[in-house]
Amino acid sequence: MRQPFLPYGKPCLSEADVEAVVACLRTDWLTQGPRVKEFETRFADSVGAPHVVAVSSATAALHLALQVAGIGPGDRVVTSPLTFLASANAALYVGATPDFCDVDPETLSIDPRKLEENWKPDTRAVVAVDYAGIPCGIPEIAEVARRHGAVVIEDACHGVGGKFNGPEDQPGPWSLGANPWVDFGTFSLHAVKTLTGGEGGVLCCRDGDHAARAGRLRSHGVERSVDRFTHYPETDPLFEQGPWYYEMQELGYNFRLTDIQCALAQSQLGRVDEFLHRRREIVRIYREGLSGIPNLTLPRPPRPADEPLTSWHLFPVRIDFENVGLTRSEIMKKLRQRGIGTQVHYIPVHLQPYYRKAFGYQPGKCPQAERYYRSALSLPLYPTLSEEDQSRVIDELKGLLSQ
Ligand SMILES: *Cc1c(COP(=O)(O)O)cnc(C)c1O
Repeated sequence: MRQPFLPYGKPCLSEADVEAVVACLRTDWLTQGPRVKEFETRFADSVGAPHVVAVSSATAALHLALQVAGIGPGDRVVTSPLTFLASANAALYVGATPDFCDVDPETLSIDPRKLEENWKPDTRAVVAVDYAGIPCGIPEIAEVARRHGAVVIEDACHGVGGKFNGPEDQPGPWSLGANPWVDFGTFSLHAVKTLTGGEGGVLCCRDGDHAARAGRLRSHGVERSVDRFTHYPETDPLFEQGPWYYEMQELGYNFRLTDIQCALAQSQLGRVDEFLHRRREIVRIYREGLSGIPNLTLPRPPRPADEPLTSWHLFPVRIDFENVGLTRSEIMKKLRQRGIGTQVHYIPVHLQPYYRKAFGYQPGKCPQAERYYRSALSLPLYPTLSEEDQSRVIDELKGLLSQ
């Protein structure tokens, strides 16, 4: 019998998830209904965020974070090159200049020492990324950013449910994306992410006014709450503030998350602990099965105490392809022939043609990230990956690496 194809990641939907969506479809609210607020409240509780705004994508959440923080033309936004395009593109949406700080080879996120060394006076925001769910070391990154008066955003799209231990005086553990060091945290509900609504995003804000403004911008800049009206022009009867009244106070977007998506995401939210438990278990089995293999390095949080708290969105191993004598494409192809999907996370964003052309970024700008990229390969990791299938991944990879 042909063995099933194992993708590098896939959503994990239950009958209860399906029923939650169907139940929503039977109500009168497909969008902008009660499920959005309910999901926001539940998500805020689950990560310990002061304020939460549910939006149509993490890209929208990053965009709104920068906008409500007042970042715009003339400002520089520094992020990690080892991320999905959105972490950098958000800066472009608000007219700012995206820039990249090389990674620490341990955290695989912004290296705080390099952030300090290369700090430019126009830098007004730092977007740190918890790559694969490995804690980015936000206290150290935020320390540099704050000293220079910059806003701190944690792109925790890989980190839902993940936690990390803080420094001695603030031990935590703290949630990725919602902790004392960040002004904003962003999460994605895209189908490849640990918790999905199909599409969707979550913006966590420290500041209530930021959240209120992000909530307005999510829907065309419209304000419906009486205590936030501008009352303009107060005395003209034409502008009587009857029950229909609303105000467009600034230009916003349609970044709304639907009730259908919220129904799915909320149902999934109840299973995040279960998902993470499975993901950690799978990582533990990878560690056992793939330890001590030449030319292979496994990812790991720099601080061992963080390992049991890590969300493990991806399991990106490093392979010294040159030493192995096979290219990455060859290995990916051979694995694919054996029914095993892999992926590369990520092409360093500064080397994308757009970024090279628009900003003159060149190879050599972020040597650690570029070196990492040459060796990276993400192995299958998702809660329903069976032990048997995982053994197959381990055996096939071992076989290829020891030819
Ligand atoms: C998925 C992802 C995003 C974008 O999420 P969308 O919801 O698809 O917009 C941003 N940053 C990182 C690190 C991601 O993995």
